[in-house]
Amino acid sequence: MICARCNTPIPRGAIACPVCNAPAPPAVKRPYALYILGAFLVLGYTVLILLAWTEPGGAPPPQTTEGLMFWSGVFGYYRAKRLGGSRWKSAGLGALLGLLGAVVVAFIAGMRA
Ligand SMILES: [Zn+2]
Repeated sequence: MICARCNTPIPRGAIACPVCNAPAPPAVKRPYALYILGAFLVLGYTVLILLAWTEPGGAPPPQTTEGLMFWSGVFGYYRAKRLGGSRWKSAGLGALLGLLGAVVVAFIAGMRA
């Protein structure tokens, strides 16, 4: 991290610049839970699409739609919570994306049946 006022490197964990005493910017906390949830969602979508594509009759059970909508909604909510923006709008958008994902999976399964 570099001091915004005098360009001196500020050591990790320091709360102020050692040269000009300007306050150091707070350390950015990475939203790891968000990354993990996002990775699981991507994995989930990939598995569902692959199953629908490769297995005859590989259409996901109906409750998959609710699951996708729920977890995509949760992801949207926490994304907005950590990165800013309207939480419920983001959750709704996530749920809509989950529904869209389920429709795409069902469409692929239907195409391959
Ligand atoms: Zn400084």
